[in-house]
Amino acid sequence: MSFAAEAHSDVPTLPSAHSGIPAYLLEKARKEKEVIFETRTKPQNERQRLPVVPQGIERDEFLKALAELKEQLGQENVEINDKPLKDGWYMEHPNTHDMMTILDEEEFVASAIVYPGSTEEVQQIVLWANKYRIPIFPISMGRNLGYGGAAPRVRGSVTIDLGKRMNKILDINAEDYTCLVEPGVSFYALYEAIKERGLEDHMWIDTPDLGGGSIIGNTVDRGVGYTPYGDHWACHSGLEVVLPTGEVIRTGMGALPGNNTWQAFPYGFGPFSDGIFSQSNFGIVTKMGMTLMPNPGGHEAFMYTFPKEEDLAPLIDIIRPLRISNILENVAQLRHVTQALAARGRPRTEFYSGSGPMPSEAVHAAAAKTPVGDHAWAYYGMSYGPPQVRAHKLALVDAAFRRIPGARRIDPSTLPADEYFWARDRVARGVPDIHELRWVNWQPNGAHIAFSPVSPIRGADAARLFALGKEAHERYGIDFFPAFCVGLREMHLIVEIVFDRADAGQRKAALACLRDMVDEAAKLGYGEYRTHLVLMDQVAGTYNWNDGALMKFNERLKDALDPQGILAPGRCGIWPKRYRGRGWEMTRDSGERSEGNGVDLA
Ligand code: ADP
Repeated sequence: MSFAAEAHSDVPTLPSAHSGIPAYLLEKARKEKEVIFETRTKPQNERQRLPVVPQGIERDEFLKALAELKEQLGQENVEINDKPLKDGWYMEHPNTHDMMTILDEEEFVASAIVYPGSTEEVQQIVLWANKYRIPIFPISMGRNLGYGGAAPRVRGSVTIDLGKRMNKILDINAEDYTCLVEPGVSFYALYEAIKERGLEDHMWIDTPDLGGGSIIGNTVDRGVGYTPYGDHWACHSGLEVVLPTGEVIRTGMGALPGNNTWQAFPYGFGPFSDGIFSQSNFGIVTKMGMTLMPNPGGHEAFMYTFPKEEDLAPLIDIIRPLRISNILENVAQLRHVTQALAARGRPRTEFYSGSGPMPSEAVHAAAAKTPVGDHAWAYYGMSYGPPQVRAHKLALVDAAFRRIPGARRIDPSTLPADEYFWARDRVARGVPDIHELRWVNWQPNGAHIAFSPVSPIRGADAARLFALGKEAHERYGIDFFPAFCVGLREMHLIVEIVFDRADAGQRKAALACLRDMVDEAAKLGYGEYRTHLVLMDQVAGTYNWNDGALMKFNERLKDALDPQGILAPGRCGIWPKRYRGRGWEMTRDSGERSEGNGVDLA
């Protein structure tokens, strides 16, 4: 498809496309797409490095192996990745590469994509990969944007796009408030299914900021949402997993034939093995159970703003006891004004034409003209339950927040329907949205990549991380978008760097800034909760207590479960034996080479 055709094609919809948009968001998605393509200048990539063949196999042998797989799965279910790399956009995302590339876009690319239709076919693919020792990389929806999208860590891996054909909701249980899904079920699709069954007033799903991700993909990568059920991994119950040697297991109660509690009791009997299948490369999840939240009988979104950057530390100390005692009931979000400005969806050049970080005065002057008005921090929250219950909690929050001089409670009735506040309102009651894309328009060809350290909910920690991030961004001339997301006993600082992915200089600066922040944070005792493919080795390297004992343990598991080293090599910094010591790691010292020095052929 040409660039113009790509820009003008209509947005795919559910249910005809498993990764499509629901009807209620179609108009909005069309508008988002229009704005994204308005600033798109990046030409379509003409492939420079074809064919892509994984390390460790000759080209002819590889093509022969693919032909064999086509025989097994059907011609149409095996595609070679040799066409121009089309970035698309959120709703028409590629499964061939990372559409928000931080390295040269030919680095993290698949050699081929395969589409299994069942757990048995996933097993067949795994056995095939073992036979030829071909690296495979499973994705569910492939919308892991900011963390590598659909791209494999090892160049030339065969991507298993599970979601295209395995996208059934196998069960929705309205009495137990649970469901069982396949990899291709998005938050949008689950929400639609609940509505179709007339259950939307009865049960809620928990959705991330954007609803197009796969429930399984997001959960295994330990993504979060914004209802009180926000910790997706904590809320899942039961996995079906294809192991790297082809066997299939069910975890928890799923191991007991004829059980009726697979989605109700996550542990079953014996070691709780689920943990090794999240943020790892130890198995391919083909089914997962998820708990759903009963409608709490009412909800009320609220928003406060605070005038000064220095309000951060006292505010975090105010939030901690409220959050731990569940007066603040969902992941509490405290966003910086620069990101709030970017969330208006307009390019930065509309507010400021200089280079380097946009000066604070310019940000505040622009913020003053918005419906929310000028501020340094904005808090977005939701109170749940019937009116009298909410009134009690909101009064406690109000009294606590007003201890910060200049704190303002924003009256939602003063905010236009299109305001970001309303997107937060929907997401915090389990209604998936697409609004969050907007701040990516800050730069032309906008892409984003995150720095997300975990810390205690303490003012001093927040201030330290804020200063660390701000200094690093100033060093590299990048606008700083910090948002503090407060969980029950910890908080993540999420810093999204927005960059022009067509600009090699901006990509380099973004990566250097991230590498600095990861190392500096680690020195202060902060580690990332999740990371992009390019940073996995560096981040894994910071979790090195006792001479790297945890990674040694992970490598022992990897070697035992995946002796041929075929499944997602390098994901989360875990390298199989035949890749180790061969320059595959990506760190500041080693540089970023996606093909290492080959693999052990013995
Ligand atoms: P989403 O579309 O929900 O954002 P992805 O499908 O991109 O998520 O998955 C995120 C990451 O999690 C992938 O890059 C992959 O490494 C891993 N992953 C996704 N689905 C599976 C699965 N079914 N089994 C094992 N790992 C998976």
